[in-house]
Amino acid sequence: MSLPLRKNITEMDGYVPGFQPDGPGWIKLNTNENPYPPSPKVVDAILTELGSDGANLRKYPDAASKEARQVAAELYGVDPSWVIMANGSDELLNNLIRAFVDPGEEIAYIHPSYSYYATLAEIQGAKIRTFGLTENFRIADFLECYAGKIFFLTSPNAPLGFGFTNDYIESLAQRCDGILVVDEAYVDFTDTTALELVKKYKNIVVTRTFSKSYSLAGMRLGLAVAHPEVITALDKIRDHYHLDRLALVAAVAALQDQDYLRSTVSRICSTRDWFSAELRQLGYRVNPSKTNYIFAEGSDHDGKRVYQALLSEKILVRYFSDPLLAHGIRISIGTREEMEKTLKVLQSLG
Ligand SMILES: *Cc1c(COP(=O)(O)O)cnc(C)c1O
Repeated sequence: MSLPLRKNITEMDGYVPGFQPDGPGWIKLNTNENPYPPSPKVVDAILTELGSDGANLRKYPDAASKEARQVAAELYGVDPSWVIMANGSDELLNNLIRAFVDPGEEIAYIHPSYSYYATLAEIQGAKIRTFGLTENFRIADFLECYAGKIFFLTSPNAPLGFGFTNDYIESLAQRCDGILVVDEAYVDFTDTTALELVKKYKNIVVTRTFSKSYSLAGMRLGLAVAHPEVITALDKIRDHYHLDRLALVAAVAALQDQDYLRSTVSRICSTRDWFSAELRQLGYRVNPSKTNYIFAEGSDHDGKRVYQALLSEKILVRYFSDPLLAHGIRISIGTREEMEKTLKVLQSLG
């Protein structure tokens, strides 16, 4: 007997996340994780919550994530009713589609950007439309009025690393009939954010993750800032106990330690700028990056060759077979030492 699956689930492939290698000795520069540990205050908060016998884990967590919302709201200068916490920002992207998009309706995003939007849309049975980029990193042939339900804007862009200005994002919000989701996964590595625009445009939702700048990919934490009507809808459809007790205390401690965030971010940015300059010396074309990764193209335009050469030295970077990206590779910025080793291999490649 064949399973009574929905047709779109049978037909879809499922998302393939970046490779997580087993065993020691790897330099892992393929999924934009932070090379530094999270704030010591985060570790303390988790250990305190856990206690010596784990007794707190008997009890359900605060379903409303109240404290974390309050801390985030204060940090971003909004009322807590404008904030929702999440089990990774991926949970928010998923719930935004579930809240706003009926099967058969359309979502859109820029190609290339984060392809997980497409997987989530497929699960919902939504239609997918993509827009390309112009030479100067604007959306090619964007419509005077985009009538789809959600437009996902990865800003700064992944995997190319450039950012959009708020003027441009504002003009997009005016041209979107539906929701404009500004996916700010990498925003802590730059100095522009669309947060201010949320207050002005009810259809803008800003999503953030703790996975990159806060070094907490393993905790699964994200948040969104949006108009309270959007937040209320997202609260209705989420799992009620979506964040566990350890994640909740980690979120609060991480948000409260902005000094630590700034210090690791600035180390990563200076390593990135040094590494980019070295690669350019070697003849690579490197996009100026506002993130914790770079997209680099060697003179033979063969991303796969570079990827394989690094892989054979146990250095893992991201290669995309997509024809728009196959000429280069995306390299997450690790510690200075990791990047020096990576540079050595690239120098030996010629
Ligand atoms: C990493 C990433 C996410 C996912 O973040 P999580 O909080 O780990 O789910 C979302 N969007 C973009 C563009 C990302 O790079």
